[in-house]
This record gives sequence, C-alpha cells and structure tokens, in this order.
Amino acid sequence: MEEAFPLYRWPDAARLCLRMLGNNKALWEEEVFKFVKCQRLRSVSAYLPTSEDCKLDPHVYEMVLYEFLKFDVKGFLNLIKEWPFQLYNGLAVINAIHDNFRKQDANELLESLALLYSYQGDYESALRMYLKLQNKDVFELIRRYELYNVISKLIIPLINLDRERAFKILLDRSKIKPEVVVHQLENNQEYLFLYLDSLQKVNSNNIFQHKLVSLYAKYDRTKLLPFLRRSKEYVIQDALAICKREEFYPEMVYLLGCMGGVEAAEALNIIIHRIKDVEMAIEFCKEHDDNDLWNTLIDESTKQPEIITKVLDGIVDFVNPEVVVSKIKMGQTIPNLRKSVINMLWHYNIQEELLFTALRMQLDDYFETHSEVVALHRRGQQVSYNQCCAQCQCPILMKNDNFNSIVGFKCGHMYHELCLLSNDYCTECQMWNSQPTEVE
Ligand SMILES: [Zn+2]
Ligand SMILES: [Zn+2]
Repeated sequence: MEEAFPLYRWPDAARLCLRMLGNNKALWEEEVFKFVKCQRLRSVSAYLPTSEDCKLDPHVYEMVLYEFLKFDVKGFLNLIKEWPFQLYNGLAVINAIHDNFRKQDANELLESLALLYSYQGDYESALRMYLKLQNKDVFELIRRYELYNVISKLIIPLINLDRERAFKILLDRSKIKPEVVVHQLENNQEYLFLYLDSLQKVNSNNIFQHKLVSLYAKYDRTKLLPFLRRSKEYVIQDALAICKREEFYPEMVYLLGCMGGVEAAEALNIIIHRIKDVEMAIEFCKEHDDNDLWNTLIDESTKQPEIITKVLDGIVDFVNPEVVVSKIKMGQTIPNLRKSVINMLWHYNIQEELLFTALRMQLDDYFETHSEVVALHRRGQQVSYNQCCAQCQCPILMKNDNFNSIVGFKCGHMYHELCLLSNDYCTECQMWNSQPTEVE
C-alpha cells in the first residue's frame, strides 16, 4: 500500500483492503486517508464497511460522498440510495450539494436532495425537490407517508404537475380541509374555480360555494344560471352586482325576479328592451302573475305593433284580452291581428263549450241522484211483533191503548209515540233530519 499504484490498480488495492483489514475500524480509517490524497476514494467506496458493527467515522463516508459529488454525480446519487443514511451527517451533505450545485447535473442533485431531505424527515423540502424535478413520484411519496399536512403550501405546484392526481387528493376532505385549499388557491383563480366546481359535486353544502358566482362568471358562464337556481348559499345582491357588471341579462332577470316587487319590474324591462324576447316576457309575467307586470307588458306591446299579437296569444287565461284591444290606437296597423283575434275567439269558444258540457253532466248527475232519493223515501216500512221500541225496549206492538200509536224513522227505528222525546229526530241515531212516519 505504501508504494504508488498505477491508476488501473486502485480498485485492486481497494479489494485488497477488504481482505486485509476486514472489520478493523482503526486500520480502515488509517488506510482510507491514503486514497484521499490521490482522490481515489471512489475506488474504495464499494468496499467500505457500512454495517452497524463496523461503522467508520462519519467523516470517512462524507469524504467519499464529496469526491463523488465533485467527479461523478450518478455515483453520488447511487451511494445516497444505497448507504444507510445514519453513516454520515445528512445536513452536511445537503449543504455540500447546495454549495456545489451545477445546472447540468440538476436532475441527479435534486433527486439526491429529495432523498436526503426525506431521510431527515423534512418532507416538505423533499416534496419541493420532486416538484422542481417535475417528478410524479411525489404523489406516491405523499400517499406513502401521508404527507397531507405538509402539502398545504405546495398545492399550486402539485396541480401544475398533474391536475387530475392533485385534485384527487385535494377533494378528499379526510386528507386536506377545504379551507386550507381555498386559502392557498386564492392566488390562482382558475384553479380555485376548478377546485370549487368539483367540490360542489362531492359536497353541495360547502361554505365556499358563494365564490362560484364570480368564478363561473369569469371561467364558465354556462354554469352560472343553473348554479344561481340551485344554490341558496350566495348573497343575491352580490350576485346581481356581478351580473350587472358583466351585463349577463338572463341571470339578472332571474335574480331580480327572486327579489320581487320593483325589481321584478326591472327584470321585465330587461327582458323587453335588452333580451327582446316576448315569449320570455310573457312567461315571466305568468310566473309572477302580477297585474302591474301585465300592464307594463301590455303598455310596451302597444308601442311595438309587431309584438302585440304575440302578447294577445300569450295572455289568454291570465288577462282579459279586452284590456289589450282597448289600448290599441285607432288606425294603428298591426300585422297578423286578424289571425290572433280568430285564435282568441276560437280559444274562448272551446272554453265555453267545455263549461257547457260540464254543466250538462252536472245536471244529469243531479237528476239521477234525486230520483234515487225519492224512490228510497217511497219504500214501505215493515212492523212486526218481535221489534222493540228503541226507547223503552218493550215490544213495539202491544195491546195497551196507551201504546197503540207508533212512530217510525227512515233509519228503521220505531218508538211508541208516548216514549218519543222529539218528533224531529231519532234519539237512537241522533239523526236530526230523519223524517218520522206515524203509524196508527
Ligand atoms: Zn216505548
Ligand atoms: Zn234511528
């Protein structure tokens, strides 16, 4: 060992060391310094004892690592993966990497840092390294070590890396709370929109859904109106302000309609003048069925002859068409009015016919029932010896002069006239309108 080795003999020397030195710690440390001087530590690295019972001074391993770091980053990364991390001072190695960071070796160095940080238990830094590497193993690391508390500040980079896998974690409330995610995503409105839109589907009662009004307005308007109709968790005035700013008329109509009163009139105004949809205006008036709204619509329609017939067609059953007709000015030309009036009359004819048929059916039914009642009243009533007076419970037919007058009711009960309390009803069934029949 003392004499100089030719370059190619260094691995042999290292193997020789293993044979000669075995597990003798002191001898190993002494010999290693000879490799240091010639920067040949890389040859000896494979033979250095790393077991628990023959651990060398941490500096020895660190020196080996530094030499690899300087001349062979791939070998360096392999050692970081292979050697038990207790052999050396991890923080010292981390600092050495930062001091010797070279862009051309960034991948190996970042991966080494990620491993070293996770050995240290500093998972947040480890995740940052993986994220810099754009390495999707990061999701596996999160899952395996349940790093859900650690990822809160890394949410945006995680979504950047793999939106689908990131959202799978973020939408699991048992792993990360929505308030944490929302707080982090405030700086990225598009991600916030994607997150809350998905959260809405798994948890429709979440307290952040009011934010969706402005987010839908910005990123996906088609979802705005259905959301406004479905959710109760937003402030109607705030939503209205957003829709006004964006000039979203159908959404404004819905919100104003919900507010009712003066606002409903404003909504109708928007339908007529902005959206210019007569059918929608008619539907709106039908929905709210308010005289003031109908009057507004009718007044507007008389100013625009081309829509007056549509109004006439639409208001049947709700408003007397006379009101509309009376507002038409003399000499005003209204296209298709004749057809509309015919339609209207036809509609009223049908209504009249319906009423008449209903009335006839009712009368038929009445007469039929009445004749049944009359037939019932005409029916005779049988009196026999085994029947008793409903009051005194004695036989109804007695040879006693005081009891020879009998009163019978339609219900079938019989009384001696003397026993009867009232002629107006049968006391047994309290039938007030049961008509008595007197039998001598
Ligand atoms: Zn009696
Ligand atoms: Zn009775």
